[in-house]
Amino acid sequence: MTRRALTTFAVTLVALTSWAWSWRDADVTSDLRVTSCSWFGEYYRRVAELGEDRTHWRVDTLPDRIGGWVDTKTDVVTISPATPCDLVHDVVTHEWAHLLQVAYYGDWDTAYAVGGATRLEREADCVSYLMGSHYTPYVGIPGGGVTCTPDELFWANELLKSHSDLIRR
Ligand SMILES: [Zn+2]
Repeated sequence: MTRRALTTFAVTLVALTSWAWSWRDADVTSDLRVTSCSWFGEYYRRVAELGEDRTHWRVDTLPDRIGGWVDTKTDVVTISPATPCDLVHDVVTHEWAHLLQVAYYGDWDTAYAVGGATRLEREADCVSYLMGSHYTPYVGIPGGGVTCTPDELFWANELLKSHSDLIRR
């Protein structure tokens, strides 16, 4: 396996459909949950819900149509600010699933060796689906539902079950 392959798979969540530019500044003077989607509200809330230390997560520009990725050297996650607000929850969850994978398999090389990028991406999306995500571009079916196989769902469940042992903080 090459670093190039790792880099390719780590650049995750390429949208299957065009993203409308929906970035908007947070209106901190109103009830954001009612009146609009607050990008950073969604982001920080989901990172906290997942028990993550926000210092391991950052928001920074990524290549076009890339919602997020995990740095395989540092395990720091980057989320693109171009991610539509209503997808932030699901993109964060997908990237978190990659952290579960590396924790479960021990390292990125081992995780990758299990089934390559396709398996890792589909498995991450199946985890995300089980966590309530609706945006699952690697396994999603237009109109709703997912194509996760029983085997993929089994392993997605295994990752989630292992999480209680993986909480780092
Ligand atoms: Zn991914």
